[in-house]
Amino acid sequence: MGKIKTLREDVYKKIAAGEVVERPLSVVKELVENSLDAGADNIKIEISDGGKKLIKITDNGSGFAPEDIEPAFKNHSTSKISELSDFDTLTSLGFRGEALPSILEVAKIEIKTSDNNDGRGLHCVFAGGRMIQKNETAFNRGTTILVEELFFNFPVRKKFLKTERTELNQIISFLEPVILVHPDKSFELIHNHKTVFVYQKTTGLKDRVYQVYGKDFLESLQEVDYEENNYRISGLVSRLNTGISVKKHQYFFVNRRPIREKTLVAALNNTFEKFLEKSRHPIGILRLAIPPHEVDVNIHPMKLEIKFENASAVYQALKHAIESSFGVKEEFGVDREISTLPGPSAAFSSRYGSPGRFPGDGYRKPGWQPPHTGIEAQKPYSDHQQDQLFPGSFLDGEDFSIIGQYKNSYILVEKNNDLLLVDQHNAQERVNFDQLKKEYKEDQVVSISPLFPVIMELSPSEAAGLDDGKIELLGKIGFRLESLGGNTYDIKAFPQVLGEQNVKDAIRTVIHMNVDTKEDELEFEDLVLAEIACKSAIKVNHKLFPDQMKTIVKNLFKTDNPYFCPHQRPIIVEFTLEQIEKLLKRK
Ligand code: ADP
Ligand code: MG
Repeated sequence: MGKIKTLREDVYKKIAAGEVVERPLSVVKELVENSLDAGADNIKIEISDGGKKLIKITDNGSGFAPEDIEPAFKNHSTSKISELSDFDTLTSLGFRGEALPSILEVAKIEIKTSDNNDGRGLHCVFAGGRMIQKNETAFNRGTTILVEELFFNFPVRKKFLKTERTELNQIISFLEPVILVHPDKSFELIHNHKTVFVYQKTTGLKDRVYQVYGKDFLESLQEVDYEENNYRISGLVSRLNTGISVKKHQYFFVNRRPIREKTLVAALNNTFEKFLEKSRHPIGILRLAIPPHEVDVNIHPMKLEIKFENASAVYQALKHAIESSFGVKEEFGVDREISTLPGPSAAFSSRYGSPGRFPGDGYRKPGWQPPHTGIEAQKPYSDHQQDQLFPGSFLDGEDFSIIGQYKNSYILVEKNNDLLLVDQHNAQERVNFDQLKKEYKEDQVVSISPLFPVIMELSPSEAAGLDDGKIELLGKIGFRLESLGGNTYDIKAFPQVLGEQNVKDAIRTVIHMNVDTKEDELEFEDLVLAEIACKSAIKVNHKLFPDQMKTIVKNLFKTDNPYFCPHQRPIIVEFTLEQIEKLLKRK
């Protein structure tokens, strides 16, 4: 019997809709998610020309019932939800019923599928938005979907696709977290007939991390396994005093859905802040099981974002989970002692010494399962309730009030019952950085000329450090330097955010910065922008008017990472009402 139904209008109208297919990555994402939702544990992805020419996904999932194939390609047709209240218990990645029809709008699709173990399958071809061929074929249980001629009918979109390498890299970056959070499934990626990777099924996250990143990486991590309220948090994070120089390996999964969400990013980085050097970042591969009714997955058309009903509870739980992985709290701050303890690395290397063989079940914690507790019986939403359920996300919005300024340096803010202490310098640095970065990315840094000539004498080594690359970079940031011969330069223009008095200092800083990041040019550029942002920001010990404080805080809350300045110094210290009441022994 068919499982796929068309959603009623009142239901699909409430589902975040929008462009689904932007590039090959979008197709791979939707199809892989469908395979996972179909219960597959073996997924093979074959692509050609970065996916621009061909994308073929093969899975061993449930397959389509014969009568479900055509409906699956109709708008708003899905087997995953039928009422809005189903979101309360949703465990599938998909729910919009729009991926297959949207892909069909821009490509040709061929499908082979079988829902039985007798080898009876169907082969269907769709083109021009409808099925043009259907015949029986021998096929094992599972599905192969082939997508060809992407954007054949949208030449402009096709033209805007990036190079083969870039499109492929995007696909790999999408797959990486998916592979991490599904160690019990095998994944294979083939590009232009060459294998990019194969990961066989394995038994747990650690084994998967070992397969993907190797022994050293795994040895730098420690296990997290924690429960608070109805949240179960498990995974791996950096050991104390380790971390890496790039903020790359930070993966979060909410109910197995890979997600980038600022509350989670902040909790990880804030918790590690005091244990890592400024230039190091924690690694985190963190799985959160949260009752589905406390998570809104229906806010982004591509399901890239989610919203927590109670973001600050999630923040606290993740923080506690990470802290508990550090072991005894009293050891905090005794960094040297901890780092010289005979860590478990010896045990690790003997256990993980030979790839592909993982004994030691005694070593592993019991398998992770989403919690069944706390998930209440379905309760239909009314519109009004829906608004109430998901208020503005953590630190968003303008509903805060300024209490005052402490020591002419820290702004005291009341927000959602919490007391926040905001470092005015770090806050403005973050705001300036985000603005500069945006202008920089769009090649639109606003620059102005000095009122009086600014002449700079550089030392010979400084002048040598100002090689062409740096002059070009300074140019992109809004500086214009004219050589007056020898090592003397006339500064004709500088970025507007930077006060004239800071111009020379900023240029010197950039000259002295080490461009040792050949592969990662962006990383270096970010550092330069951060320096400029820092030099432009208001200092501490500087009295501010209430309106100035309000503007700083308002702009801060609009940034992506209000908790950290670009140099990774914390911006905000938070006290919840509960903490304060506890301190004052009112509770
Ligand atoms: P959604 O995933 O939001 O339901 P899609 O358009 O992606 O919408 O898919 C429509 C339906 O087709 C799904 O609900 C599912 O029943 C079925 N389906 C899609 N891909 C597969 C697959 N690989 N195996 C089995 N069924 C599938
Ligand atoms: Mg889908």
